[in-house]
Parts: sequence; structure tokens; C-alpha cells
Amino acid sequence: MLTDHGIPVNIQSGAFRTVFGLLTQNMPFFMILRAVKGGLPVNATEAVSICRKKLEKVTPLCTDCGRICGAACCRPMEAEETGMLLFPGEQALYEGKPEWKIQKAGQDLLIICTGECDREERPLSCRMFPLLPMEDQDSVRAYMDERARYVCPLVPSGIQGVRPEFRKTIEDCGRILLENPETRSFLHHLRLENEALRTLRKDWRVTHGRQQDQTDTEYRE
Ligand code: SF4
Ligand code: SF4
Repeated sequence: MLTDHGIPVNIQSGAFRTVFGLLTQNMPFFMILRAVKGGLPVNATEAVSICRKKLEKVTPLCTDCGRICGAACCRPMEAEETGMLLFPGEQALYEGKPEWKIQKAGQDLLIICTGECDREERPLSCRMFPLLPMEDQDSVRAYMDERARYVCPLVPSGIQGVRPEFRKTIEDCGRILLENPETRSFLHHLRLENEALRTLRKDWRVTHGRQQDQTDTEYRE
């Protein structure tokens, strides 16, 4: 079991707790986990749990953005089973919860969404939407998720339209997720998919004589 700070509860007792607290008070979550685990990378379920916790209360806007769009990203498609991609290791967090239906989607797992859920249990994909963390040379940056383009009213304002704290938390989560090889590969595939969608959209605009819109620059300071 992990505490609020991603530290396993069973190592947080007595004198050890005091010394451990002093040593780790300024360390980021993933470094604490790595230190506790003897330098080993966090496993996928731990990584996803930490990120879900970090994004429990930090949302794209200071107010409930669902009020702007009637929670468009939660609306299931008519006559279709829709869902959100689970991150590697995330399935374990739904064990013993039969109300959540999970099915295979190619190499990935999809959690079926009925349009309503217990907020505390929503998958990481939902918490990150409409951004995605990606490696950018030596750093991790938050990008607008191309899959959000036709759903989310925040997309036209680009990355500047979201709350800086949200963007920063997405980037912190990216650093944690990239520590794990499985999650790293999952994010890499999402990046390739994102880039392919962006190229398709740009090509379509050129073919149809449309001007590029400002969100063609995907990451705007
Ligand atoms: S579609 Fe965008 S604005 Fe609407 S609830 Fe989802 S993230 Fe918020
Ligand atoms: S799982 Fe919950 S938060 Fe995610 S899309 Fe469905 S209703 Fe919305």
C-alpha cells in the first residue's frame, strides 16, 4: 500500500520513519521509490498509481472544464462501445471491481466507459486528457493530444489554454512514467500515433487549400 506521497506504508514506522523523512523530504516521488527499491525503476503499476494520485485534483482549468462542454470527453458514442486506453500495469488497479469492464484493443487494453464514473477511480488517460507527456530531447514536455482535437474545446487555444499547474503535473508524470520500460514504450507508441494524426491533418489542410491554424504548432510557450 502506498501513502499519499507514494511511499509504501510498511516502511514508514518508528525511528526509520524519522530518518527516512529527513532524507527524502525534498526528493521527487520517483527518486524516493528508486531509492527505496535500491535504484531499480518503479514497476508500471506503481508508476501509474503515483501519476493518478498527482492528477487527482489538478485539472486542465481552475474551474470544472466539463461545464464548458457538457463533459464532451466523457460522452460515449451512440451505439458504440467506447473506452479509454489503460496504461501498462493499470489493469491491476481494477481487480475486484466488476463494474469496470476491460477489453483488449489490439496490443492494448481499453476500459469501457458508460459516460459516468467514480471520479477517484478514473483511469490515467482521463486524468491527463487533453494533454500527453512526451520526451523532447533531454526533457519531458506536455503536448496537446491530437485525439482531443475534435472533442475538447480547450484544443484551439493550444497548450497555453490550460492551467500551468496542470501542464507541469503532466510533465512530472511523464518523467515518472518514462522510468519504466513498459510505460516508456507505451508513451512512445502514443507519440507516434499523435504525430501521424497531426501529419494527416496538416496534409489534408494543404490538399484542400486551407491555411494552417495556430494549433499546428503543437507546443506553444
Ligand atoms: S472535453 Fe476538454 S474541456 Fe471538456 S471536460 Fe474534457 S478536458 Fe474538459
Ligand atoms: S472513465 Fe470516467 S472520466 Fe473517463 S471518460 Fe469515462 S466517465 Fe469520463
